[in-house]
Amino acid sequence: MSYTLINPATEAPMETIEHFSLEQTDEAIARAAKAQKLWAALNPADRAKALRDFAAAVDSSIEELAQLEVRNSGHPIGQARWEANHVRNVLEYYSASPERLFGKQIPVAGGIDVTFNEPLGVVGIITPWNFPMTIASWGFAPALAAGNAVLLKPAEWTPLTSIKLGELALESGLPEGLFQVLPGKGSVVGNRFVTNKTVRKVVFTGSTPVGKQIMAGAADQIKRVTLELGGKSANIVFADADVEKAAATAPYSVFENAGQDCCARSRILVERKVYDKFLEHLEPAVKNVKVGDPTLEETEVGPLVHKAHHASVTSYLDGANVAFRGSAPEGPGYWFAPTVVLANGKEDRCFNEEIFGPIVTVLPFDSEAEAIELANDSEYGLSGSIWTRDIGRGIRVARGVESGNLSVNSHSSVRYNTPFGGFKQSGLGRELGPDAPLHFTEEKNVFIPND
Ligand code: NAP
Ligand code: MG
Repeated sequence: MSYTLINPATEAPMETIEHFSLEQTDEAIARAAKAQKLWAALNPADRAKALRDFAAAVDSSIEELAQLEVRNSGHPIGQARWEANHVRNVLEYYSASPERLFGKQIPVAGGIDVTFNEPLGVVGIITPWNFPMTIASWGFAPALAAGNAVLLKPAEWTPLTSIKLGELALESGLPEGLFQVLPGKGSVVGNRFVTNKTVRKVVFTGSTPVGKQIMAGAADQIKRVTLELGGKSANIVFADADVEKAAATAPYSVFENAGQDCCARSRILVERKVYDKFLEHLEPAVKNVKVGDPTLEETEVGPLVHKAHHASVTSYLDGANVAFRGSAPEGPGYWFAPTVVLANGKEDRCFNEEIFGPIVTVLPFDSEAEAIELANDSEYGLSGSIWTRDIGRGIRVARGVESGNLSVNSHSSVRYNTPFGGFKQSGLGRELGPDAPLHFTEEKNVFIPND
């Protein structure tokens, strides 16, 4: 089996990627298990040094990684460079962890009691196509730091930066078998991570339906899972906010990466008193978003990732009450102009379903309580923004919204040093932040008597 990649900005076919079979996946898992034992037995300082060397190798390949993401995923070059730098930062951050997995010393009678954070063993990471290299690093960096081996299955459409990261790991001196990239189908390679007993944890980022299948499959072995799933996050704008700033920044909280972002604030809730004013300021901001050739420095938004995904996003325009749209190139490429839809009530499909494209839906509200209720009226709970000049209201609403990542008077993006993850059906567990390596360990308690 193989898959021929298509450049989403030109529709030109590119390299053909060979897929791992079930047998090859099992062989890779066996190699990983061997490599993990040696890795975990290393001096923690040597593991730290190896991760710093991996980070340095990524640092010397930032431009190459960025160019691969431009060709494979259509990310604008500026954005792709940020992503490659982010991978280096994540590796550098977690390179400090091997020497800092302290465990605890717990006061007990009759002896000493200590805990150890033992590595799980082999970890399987399954990534989606929207942010291939950054999401991969959120799994592999803390997993390796905690003493595990990692198998990474990239999405079929976007494997190039993951494959390159696998090569960089080896070139930087990480042991053979410790970090392997396995291009292949989710139903074959990804599913094998769930069913093969040697894999002790699956980290999955992708759609909620596939996440549910993985969680159900993992139950059979009580396998550990971290799930990062969909979102339909609210951007709540109160009348007392800097409405002009809220409107000017709103497009970048939902149209970045062509809306293919699980954190996209794709529902804008606006207090009715300023609804018209907000839309007046939103229109020029949307029309100014620079959608175009991702190889150009000035481009802000590229194409959608794939023809099939373009068709899926387009289907949401059927019956939608479109207020206004920005622009996008004509001709080859999976282009989609940023689109603002006025919700036909809260049952509107555009208001409820994760579109994962550059469509945002706007709905007015009348009170703080109603805003919180609307924001929480979703099976998802990943991110969100709150715009108000009233600090108390900012705190109340941030505490009231059932979501893992909120920002007040900004659209804060992901930071490697703070925890990230979802409430409700947006996921299970957290990635990033200081505790991420602990999520790749088992806590072991040991008592030693003093007699
Ligand atoms: P997807 O269809 O769920 O696929 C994600 C990954 O899972 C791909 O690598 C896919 O492989 C693999 N996969 C598919 N079926 C599988 C199975 N039965 N067993 C194991 N692995 C399987 O999602 P997508 O379409 O790539 O990505 C879009 C979705 O991801 C959106 O819903 C978005 O919200 C969500 N997402 C969430 C986050 C977050 O952090 N919360 C981040 C990014 C994306 P193939 O490529 O071979 O299908
Ligand atoms: Mg899919």
